[in-house]
Formats: sequence, structure tokens, C-alpha cells
Amino acid sequence: MRHCDVAVIGQGLMGAAALRALLRQNVDAIGFDPLGPGAALGSSHGSCRVFRRFNFENPNYTGLSDDALAGWERLACESGREILIPCPVLEAGPKGSAMVLASRRAAVSRGFDAPLLSGSEVNARFPAFRLPDDWDAVVQDGAAILLAQVALEALRAPAETAGRIVPEAVVALEQHPDHVIVRTAGQSFRADTVILATGPWMTRLLPDLAPLLEVTRQTVGWFRPARPATVRPGAFPLFILARSEDDIVYGFPDFEGRGVKAAPHNHGPAADADAWGPEATDVELGPVSEALAELIPGAAGPIAERDVCLYTNTRPADRRPDAGDEFILDRWPGSRLIVASACSGHGAKFAPAIGDRLARLALEPDYLAQPFFRLSRYSAFPDDGPFQPAE
Ligand SMILES: Cc1cc2nc3c(=O)[nH]c(=O)nc-3n(C[C@H](O)[C@H](O)[C@H](O)COP(=O)(O)OP(=O)(O)OC[C@H]3O[C@@H](n4cnc5c(N)ncnc54)[C@H](O)[C@@H]3O)c2cc1C
Repeated sequence: MRHCDVAVIGQGLMGAAALRALLRQNVDAIGFDPLGPGAALGSSHGSCRVFRRFNFENPNYTGLSDDALAGWERLACESGREILIPCPVLEAGPKGSAMVLASRRAAVSRGFDAPLLSGSEVNARFPAFRLPDDWDAVVQDGAAILLAQVALEALRAPAETAGRIVPEAVVALEQHPDHVIVRTAGQSFRADTVILATGPWMTRLLPDLAPLLEVTRQTVGWFRPARPATVRPGAFPLFILARSEDDIVYGFPDFEGRGVKAAPHNHGPAADADAWGPEATDVELGPVSEALAELIPGAAGPIAERDVCLYTNTRPADRRPDAGDEFILDRWPGSRLIVASACSGHGAKFAPAIGDRLARLALEPDYLAQPFFRLSRYSAFPDDGPFQPAE
């Protein structure tokens, strides 16, 4: 039976980043995934994601963003491929918008200027927009279009070249006190430690995770813009518009000539991890069409392409309360498993930083991720001591 120090199950952005970090340190690690880059399944699929430096979700993410940026730049250098296209991000909402406030706070707490803009100032700077004059807005630099598929290909390339990815699904994990047997349909491997990074399929190999996660169906559209010149990169930012807390739409400039990619960020209906169809409907994309027509008429138009993706969302925590949607990066108690659930619709940008943290969890017995990423935030798990400040 083949032995390895670390098995990384799942080679989406998180698992691929972890495997790359391990191999860079000459660890005997093997990845498993039946899918390759370019597949239409998996939460990492598709051409692009938003990279933000200042995150309205949690001001403590700025350090993670900065680590990730260094990782993406290194990956671009090592692979010779473009991974990030710098592009400002516009965040806007009705007067007093909590999202705009939180985003500005994250920047200001790091000593960056993040002036509050009015809707009319945004409209003057970006002609595709028609925000109400009294809306609040902020335009953050340090953001970028993350070329997700290129990034995934580049992250996986060294492992693929070295024959370190088994292109098969893991069908069973057999846990023993000092090792884990990892079984695919035709092969078995003995691993000292297992990193589980299977995205929406997390509960298939670890059913006890089910109370902490909810998978939701998320629809995406590419809109043929009414005024193409106004939505090109340079003239048009990445955008996140919060018409209300439950009605958030985000999108990209037309950097691929496919139209303006835009989607709702709110959680869609609960879905099974294998439910990648049917195609996104006009009804599901209705709020996006409406938001574009009302707020970004230069980008509004017929839907040219559609996609479906899945978010894996974490439930709100109770011991150290949060609003949910934080990641889980932690050792599973009483086992040799490390859980990597980093989605909730905002994980992609952090992949290299998360990969490094997963590698540390596998290699350094005393290492713990930041408190808001640990299982101990839920009272169903052992407390691991007093709340510690962010690393
Ligand atoms: C529509 C949408 C938009 C998003 N937008 C953004 C954004 O703008 N910015 C941002 O930062 N983040 C965004 N995200 C979130 C981001 O894409 C996810 O955080 C990230 O892709 C999660 O990666 P992952 O590796 O955890 O999961 P996945 O990419 O789902 O990878 C899991 C992998 O595990 C494999 N697998 C499953 N079961 C097994 C098994 N038994 N054996 C072996 N392999 C297995 C699968 O084949 C798959 O390849 C978005 C997500 C979606 C769905």
C-alpha cells in the first residue's frame, strides 16, 4: 500500500493551494480529485472571482488578503501566467449602508483613506452607473479580478507534473489511531494526516460536519451590455451593490468580451452537492436584471450566458458568536483529519493564504488558525482556551 505523510482530498482552489504549499516544503503529499481544471463542477469552477483587500465581512481578513496577494503574485511569477487583473471595487448601498461602513472601517483601521462617496459622485466617475444621488459608496483600490481557472491550473501544475494528483474520488476514509486509510475505487493509501477540502461534498466523507454547513444553489449571468464602452476594464469597476441586506448583487467589468458577469450574493435555496443543474432561470436572475436596469443601465441587457455554482456556507457560531459564513480551518477532534471549508461565497481570493495555513495545521502540532476559523467557536466542540487576538 502506498504511504504518504499528508493526503489532500479535493483539488479545488483550497486543496490545490494546500498541496502546493506542502510540496514546496518537500513533504510527501498526494492530492485526490476526479475533476480537473475546466470542469463545470466544483465551487472553484469558472473564469473569475473578486479579489478584495478590505473585506466588509470581517476587518481581520485584511492580513489574510495581504498574505494571499503575496501568494498570487508568487504564483504568477513561478507559472509565468497572469492571475490577478488589478481593478478597483465599488461597494454601494442606500444611505447608512452597513456594508459600505464595514468596508471603509476595514481600510481605515489599516491607515488607508477610504472616502465616503455619494451616488452622484460614483455616477460622474463611472458613466455606466445611475445610483440614487444619496446612496453611500466607497471605491477600494487593492482589488482585482482573480482569474480563477488560470489560478487553479497554475496551483495544480507542479503536483500534476510530479504525478502527485490521483485523478479519482476518495470513497472511504478508515481512521486508525496513528494513520488513516484513504480508499478510492481501485487503490488504497496510508496517510499520517488527511486534509479534507472537498467543497460542497464535505459531509460525504465527514457526515458529522452536516450541522455546521449548508450548501446553496447560486446562479450567475453574463449580461450583454447596453453601452459596451462604459463597462470595459478601466471605465468600470468590480461592483457590489447592497440594495438591502438580503439583496446584494456583485459583478465584473466585461474583461472577456462575454458581457458583464453579475450574480446575487445572497444565499440561494438549499441544494445537494451533486445538484449542478438545471440551468439558471430568468426568475432566479431577475433581481440581477432589475438591479442592473435600475442602478447600472450601461451594463443592463439580455442574458447571454448562465451558470450555476454552489456556496458551502457555515452556520452562525454560538460560543464565540458570529453571523455565519466564516471559514472552518481546523483539526477535527479525535482524528487525523483537517477540515478545510472555505467558501460561503468569498473564499477564493484567500486560497494561497489558506493553503499555507492548512499545511501548517498538518505539519505543526501547536499551530492553530485564527479563532474565528476554529471549530471551538461552536459550543458543540471542545473549548481551546481564551479568545486569542488575530495572528
Ligand atoms: C458563484 C460563486 C461565486 C463566488 N465568488 C467569489 C468571489 O468573487 N470571491 C471569492 O473570494 N470567492 C468567491 N466564491 C467562493 C469560492 O469560489 C470558494 O470559496 C472556493 O472555490 C472553494 O474552493 P474549494 O476548494 O473549497 O471547493 P471546490 O472548488 O468545490 O473543490 C472541491 C473539490 O473536491 C473534489 N472532491 C469532492 N469530493 C471528493 C472526493 N470524495 N474525493 C476526491 N475529491 C473530491 C471536487 O471534485 C472538487 O474539485 C464564489 C463561489 C461561487 C460558487
